[in-house]
Amino acid sequence: MRIADTHCHLDFPRFDNDREAVIEEAKNIGVERILIPAIDIPTSKAAIRLAEKHDLIYAAVGVQPNSGLTWNSSSYDVIETLSLHPKVVAIGEIGLDYYWDKCPKEIQREIFIEQLKLAEDAELPVIIHSRDSVEDTIDILIDWQKELAQQGSKLAENPGVMHSYSGNSKQAQRLEESNFCIGITGPVTFKKADGLREVVRNMNLEKIFIETDAPYLTPEPHRGKRNKPSYTRYIVEKIAEVKDLPVDKVGEITTKNSYRVFGWKTRD
Ligand SMILES: [Zn+2]
Repeated sequence: MRIADTHCHLDFPRFDNDREAVIEEAKNIGVERILIPAIDIPTSKAAIRLAEKHDLIYAAVGVQPNSGLTWNSSSYDVIETLSLHPKVVAIGEIGLDYYWDKCPKEIQREIFIEQLKLAEDAELPVIIHSRDSVEDTIDILIDWQKELAQQGSKLAENPGVMHSYSGNSKQAQRLEESNFCIGITGPVTFKKADGLREVVRNMNLEKIFIETDAPYLTPEPHRGKRNKPSYTRYIVEKIAEVKDLPVDKVGEITTKNSYRVFGWKTRD
């Protein structure tokens, strides 16, 4: 099976003791790409360092809304410089988070919009973090994508992904119409997640990414333990079940989606 884990915090300390083994294990089940998103500038650099060490690992750079108070007058330039690294394929995680009260909403919004502009200049897709803020986030994304299209930017065709999607089908539809993808994480395997499975059922498979968000959001049957990229298979299996498709096909299509959006050369 082919799999791409397009959202995995493999740089976090919880992998310090067995990072290499976790990567090997992922490779052995068919994981051929792991994308490490950043939450601030130090993790942007850590993601790049890991990407330099492993062929299958790529990085995203950016400041996540919960790290919004670390943003200062030099942040834009630092991220812009990091974005030039050949293994950086996206700007993220960026977005809005109304769940944690770590940064005032107005500042979150400002930083989000600045980094969308950065992504536009760098011609890189975005990885969006959104918690208890789906509607506001989508409004901003749709305006941005429209602007890209008006300017004739190629980015308008594949502007990015709403990571660990938690909205409803109608909102997913709006994203799809603006060429965005949605990332599906472990909760799709949870007993109570009928709403999310409904979203998956209705969404075009060509707009779905597989993400662990490891070390968080561990799927069943390992819920409660540390998550890792080899557990992507449980997400692929659940999506196959929900959409009544062969597991291999779900792996294949979602992997190709990530190649398309992140500009990776297709293996076959
Ligand atoms: Zn994340």
